[in-house]
Amino acid sequence: MKQLNIQFDIDTLTCIEEGVSRLLLWARREQLKLSFFVNMGRSIDLKLSLKKALFNRLKADHISPVASEKTAKMPIKEKLGLRNVFRTLLLNPKIGANNLRILDTIIEEGHELGLHGGNNHALWQHGLHLMSSNEVLEGIQSNLDLLECRYGKKIIGFCAPGFVYEDRVLNILKELGFMYFVEPYYGRYRSDVGDASIAVCHGLFRVPINIIAERTVPFIENACARDITTKELVAPLGADNAADRLHIYGHPCFEGINGLDMLTEFVQQLGAEYKTETITTSVGHHCLDRRECE
Ligand SMILES: [Zn+2]
Repeated sequence: MKQLNIQFDIDTLTCIEEGVSRLLLWARREQLKLSFFVNMGRSIDLKLSLKKALFNRLKADHISPVASEKTAKMPIKEKLGLRNVFRTLLLNPKIGANNLRILDTIIEEGHELGLHGGNNHALWQHGLHLMSSNEVLEGIQSNLDLLECRYGKKIIGFCAPGFVYEDRVLNILKELGFMYFVEPYYGRYRSDVGDASIAVCHGLFRVPINIIAERTVPFIENACARDITTKELVAPLGADNAADRLHIYGHPCFEGINGLDMLTEFVQQLGAEYKTETITTSVGHHCLDRRECE
């Protein structure tokens, strides 16, 4: 049977406080097993946000932006809600570390929980190259220890904020006992063995997301922003040569709330041929097929 991996990156207050519980209800109803990657730390870095805003302002004054359908996104205000935009700007609380009870329910219901970076999502996404290796290591390790101690089992999956990776990050992940990392099929470590294939890379399994819009924009969010139907979206995926493993990603703040109907339609239209399972289960199938897991 073909496999479908549905991944959610828990980035923000709206993700963890509203989106996750809705997704858990949905998964129970539809009998799906999901993969969540949690940002344990803060969502933004104020200094960095101000710098970025200023830079974008200057850029906008000089270059007229060319809107691309393929990178269209929903407005942040719509995804997070105004109240949570202000709470984030004013308080910038830790996302996973302050909401452990919600993470407990993910584990209790048999879904997968992996890590989404270290102590600050924005700093990683926009400033990883400025962080020392020690900082990166400590950011991941402290959160890993917390989760592994709480759940009494290994956390083996990692997805970097903004899918920003460097070789030294992969070495650190390996050292800490992770088994796989996720990035878009067109990411830095893209493989030449096909868009859907799980392959070994720097001693870890590289798991490619193969249903994703350009510049890492989630597929469903992009479709909603472009106002197109899931039928149009799924048609090319249903072709005879469709991959044996499809992998889609999104955020609980959108695909768990306003985008959930479209995600449901998407899963239904793929049909019974695809079984929704965790990424770890798919990596396991891959190992069994190829005996690479030793
Ligand atoms: Zn993220």
